[in-house]
Amino acid sequence: MTTLNIQTIRKQFPILDRVIHDYPLVYLDNAATTQKPYSVLGTLDHYYQHYNANIHRGIHTLAEEATAAYELARDKTQRFINAPKREEIIFVRNTTEAINLIAYTWAEQNIGEGDEILISELEHHSNIIPWQLVAKRKNALLKYIPITEDGDINYEAYEKLLSSKTKLVAITQASNVLGTIVDIPKISKLAHEKNALVLVDAAQSIPHRKVDVQQLRCDFLAFSGHKMYGPMGIGVLWARAELLEAMPPFLGGGEMIREVSWQSAKWNELPYKFEAGTPYVSGSIGLGAAIDFIESIGIDEIQKYEQELTSYALTTFEKFPDLTVYGPQERGAVIAFTHKEIHPHDLSALLDSEGGVATRSGHHCAMPLASKLGIHATCRISFGIYNTKDEIDIFFEALGKAEEAMQCKNCTIKNLPCCKLKKKHEITISN
Ligand code: PMP
Repeated sequence: MTTLNIQTIRKQFPILDRVIHDYPLVYLDNAATTQKPYSVLGTLDHYYQHYNANIHRGIHTLAEEATAAYELARDKTQRFINAPKREEIIFVRNTTEAINLIAYTWAEQNIGEGDEILISELEHHSNIIPWQLVAKRKNALLKYIPITEDGDINYEAYEKLLSSKTKLVAITQASNVLGTIVDIPKISKLAHEKNALVLVDAAQSIPHRKVDVQQLRCDFLAFSGHKMYGPMGIGVLWARAELLEAMPPFLGGGEMIREVSWQSAKWNELPYKFEAGTPYVSGSIGLGAAIDFIESIGIDEIQKYEQELTSYALTTFEKFPDLTVYGPQERGAVIAFTHKEIHPHDLSALLDSEGGVATRSGHHCAMPLASKLGIHATCRISFGIYNTKDEIDIFFEALGKAEEAMQCKNCTIKNLPCCKLKKKHEITISN
């Protein structure tokens, strides 16, 4: 049992006071984005009210204060992921942009005809599409590391796929659908033996467990601020300094240059070479506040508590014979499931209207994985540090109501609103 005071943590999130269809909000869509604590909201507000200025260039007090705060956020991020050097932290918009940056710079120089890029069957579209595009541009091959029936990485198959042609392994650390936790140190060790580099998509791991780039032994790491209680629109790319030094710039413009003549330019030093134009200054500072928030609780404590929530939910799922849960038993704070009779989209709508429960339904931006599982869509719940077992009970209660409505004799629900439901739904039966 956790010793954390979850009620005190909840009080830091004003949005959790929302009432949805007369029910207190139960927010179980944290894998899509997390809510923001007062400290992050206040940091954004304070920045705009007190020291909003463009950074690095101005020789006035506001510009100096903004620059110092922006660079302090870089230091915090460096420490948070245990990066060896502060200049290895590049602020971008999100995980997607971080991955694309590598695809349009490092890959442009280092992937050639016949080379191979390995990604896994677990990947989010943002770690698939950039590599499909690279493969097309370069006449390279995109290969997939298969998953086992449980939804784990098939490490044996991975080892067999690796060869001297493999130039990059790009893989998620935590699946946003199955919750699978990938053994990144093992992935890195095997890749490096073949001189391939490793890019880690940490979008779904960074808010839930310690992410230490030196322990992971990876070469690139990408994550988004908005999934770790920070602002939307700020993300981070980490890469080893010598790789960043050798890479061509991604976007050209102000700040990323040292000297410009009519026909050519010299690039600025790291990290500025990759931060063209005015960055999202308040977002970076807000990300720093989110890191402070996580560290004030302790990432290991967060992991332990969310593990409790996940185990509790998984056990309760077993009581619902019509539900199928996807993914391994040992997992992160994500549970995707389907109902034998109710379409995932209807389920999400019913959970919202009958319990104020926010869930997500669809392919979760992982269409190839959905097709591998033989389904079009799942409904997904995912936890954050402010969720409670009571909220999980409310979720299951609302689920029970949805099931009851399906069996309502008065209404024979198919395509009819059910008398038992608070809000009148048109239920579409798809299975
Ligand atoms: N990778 C994974 C595993 C994700 O879950 C997500 C977001 N759902 C992304 C990448 C993309 O994140 P963003 O939209 O913030 O770029």
